[in-house]
Amino acid sequence: MVGVMPATTPAASAASPAAPSPGGATPALRLQAVTKSYGDHPAVQAVDLEVAAGEVLTVIGPSGCGKSTLLRLAAGLERPDSGSVWLGDREVAGSRWVPPERRHVGLVFQDHALFPHLDVATNIAFGLDRLPRAERAPRVAEVLELVGLGDLRERYPHELSGGEQQRVALARALAPRPAVVLLDEPFSSLDENLRAQVRAETLAAIRLTGSAALLVTHDQTEALSLGDRLAVVRRGVVEQVGPPTEVYETPVNRFVATFMGDADYLPAHVRDALLTSEIGVVSTVPGWGRTELDVEVMLRPHEVALRPEPSAAAVVERVEYHGAFVLHHVRLPSGRSVRSWQQHGVRLEPGTPVDVTVVPGSRPVLLSGDTALFAPPDSARR
Ligand code: ADP
Repeated sequence: MVGVMPATTPAASAASPAAPSPGGATPALRLQAVTKSYGDHPAVQAVDLEVAAGEVLTVIGPSGCGKSTLLRLAAGLERPDSGSVWLGDREVAGSRWVPPERRHVGLVFQDHALFPHLDVATNIAFGLDRLPRAERAPRVAEVLELVGLGDLRERYPHELSGGEQQRVALARALAPRPAVVLLDEPFSSLDENLRAQVRAETLAAIRLTGSAALLVTHDQTEALSLGDRLAVVRRGVVEQVGPPTEVYETPVNRFVATFMGDADYLPAHVRDALLTSEIGVVSTVPGWGRTELDVEVMLRPHEVALRPEPSAAAVVERVEYHGAFVLHHVRLPSGRSVRSWQQHGVRLEPGTPVDVTVVPGSRPVLLSGDTALFAPPDSARR
């Protein structure tokens, strides 16, 4: 049995991202009602977003949704059409304009953008012209240690692996001690097997410096595993902001639900706090007493349990081996499909009749139309 729906609505928290940070501290970076169009194409629409000091915020969304434009607006590489950008107490775009080179933010791009004719140490020292000359070499040594490249200071970029180049780019961005680092798809040019390690090292280095970071990615795993919070963007609009668990487990709408992970939807019915669908009782829904409503229930593959049962009407349709887990596609009597993750070693052959249930302790999300429901609407009262 399942059921506890969240007591607070993520929609409410998503609707007020410009509210003061916990404790009322000034955010390290704040975008306030920022809008940017290219011609008549709106790339970023009235976005409010904050990154607290020391916080890592990941920004995720499909290609072309405006992620890079958001980052470029924060960096000063684009000017907003309206709205304002703040770095701490300093307004840098809006009623005044501070150019990128005077914003003192660190920038890391996918292509690393190292100077090929300069060695590692000189690449890193490049951003330190504001530091007294005598302090530059010690700072270079310090950040090289921070990113674990102390031995490579005299190498040239072409003598480094992709992961090492990425770490040099990070060291260069962190060297001037920026309060904010902006990273645009920093890991996407790395090999899959290198990526996890470089990600972890990058995050560790950023955490050590205490800089706030805004990291743009299109990779769900990255967004879920790296950030303190993540912002999901669609068509230039922030759909939801919150800690990864909140966004994944209580998405505010169908887009966020589907974008952040595999999701199947079944027509369902709530009556007096009991949620049923064609697989039977899905869960209890506390707080939904004396209500009745047709809804849809979203099920993630890890929430769906299967048990071979010769008399069952649902049938395994297809099996995908993923190594540690095996994804089973199951056809229900209605013709709809649900997916179920099974442990490595479990493989129910296509054609196997299975009993489909919801894993105890799951908290399936309910939707009305495309919007998630976190409390019964008044119209559902009986
Ligand atoms: P993302 O980083 O999410 O892939 P972008 O921020 O790069 O998206 O782009 C958002 C939208 O703005 C896209 O439709 C893109 O084609 C458009 N766009 C981005 N930069 C420019 C530009 N310099 N001129 C015209 N259109 C642009």
